Amino acid sequence: MGNVFAAAPQTIFDIMSQLAREHDAVNLGQGFPDDQGPLIVRQKAADEVLDGWNQYPPMMGLAPLRQAIAEHYMARQGLSIDWPQETMVTSGATEALAASILALVEPGDEVVLFQPFYDAYLPLVLRAGGIPRFVNLDPKDWSFDEEDLRAAFSSRTRAIIFNDPLNPAATCSTPQQRRIIANLCNEFDAIAICDEVWEEVIFDGIVHESLFSLPDMRERTVKIGSAGKMFSLTGWKVGFVVADRALLSVIAKAHQFLTFTTPPNLQTAVATGLRQSGELLAPMRKSFQASRDYLSTGLKQLGFVVLPSKATYFLNIDITETGMTDLRFCDRLVREFGVAAIPVSAFFAKDPFHNVVRLCFAKKKETLDEALSRLTAASQKIGA
Ligand code: PMP
Repeated sequence: MGNVFAAAPQTIFDIMSQLAREHDAVNLGQGFPDDQGPLIVRQKAADEVLDGWNQYPPMMGLAPLRQAIAEHYMARQGLSIDWPQETMVTSGATEALAASILALVEPGDEVVLFQPFYDAYLPLVLRAGGIPRFVNLDPKDWSFDEEDLRAAFSSRTRAIIFNDPLNPAATCSTPQQRRIIANLCNEFDAIAICDEVWEEVIFDGIVHESLFSLPDMRERTVKIGSAGKMFSLTGWKVGFVVADRALLSVIAKAHQFLTFTTPPNLQTAVATGLRQSGELLAPMRKSFQASRDYLSTGLKQLGFVVLPSKATYFLNIDITETGMTDLRFCDRLVREFGVAAIPVSAFFAKDPFHNVVRLCFAKKKETLDEALSRLTAASQKIGA
């Protein structure tokens, strides 16, 4: 194995954002919302910076936040969590992923990854010495084939990384899919590292369900969440891990040498937000859903093939009819028409498909209007 990080290419997100700046483009590539997040949560953070505790908080996180995490998951997902033993606060979901993978994956262990996947997984698995086993989702509806998934499991499988809702596909898993994954984890004695950062950015009345809620998965699931995603505060990097005590105690040992802690003022503010998550999150979901519908309707009127988006800040378009690859399409879109988007092939390590492009709709109406007017020109010149 070469040096994983030295060999890593510049990410497509950097490349597209740079092109967006050079071409003064409307940036629908980047995945952060224009919305500022709830005032009450930001106000609490500001108050805590001025008058609160600004020294090291406990390694596992502040007790009020850990308690609020457990209460939130009980209220929203019916999960019964023993917070002093089963919750840990991290510096974003990214650190939670790093701590979980570094703690649980040993050199030679196999790790099952669905493609497309969130870009952080693969370098972390490789750095831990893990061997990735890829399973491609079907771009028609982003489902997986049960036999393909079974074929990726073996006696060497240590874990599966399961991102649900799935970025970039913008889909939510079905109970049947979760059952298949759970059965395989039990049969092959594997852990499910569940990246659920989008669990609250979910539309059309769908209620998120975690593998953690299945009795036979409770002791083999690592559930990862992100306050940044929940409250539209993506720069805050406050994440959390929920797992059975035996698993969490190992992950905590990696966490203590990665960041050890997360800013206490932000933790207190997130606890305030979680205690009111019922009231705070519903209007946010409604507003994201309205933005999704606005961009989706506009794109359809221009003749684009819009794929369903059930969650996340993103929707995808199928560009097969343009005859271009997603890379070529996005390159032309940003250079000639001033709209930045993300080619979904960037979320693959091997055998990518090249006909899907991801756009972020979590933007102000004016931004979406400007993007749509530029896309009108694009649809006329390069086809929709
Ligand atoms: N996992 C997924 C699937 C994501 O989309 C993101 C953010 N884009 C993260 C993890 C990282 O979350 P955080 O900012 O809390 O580290």
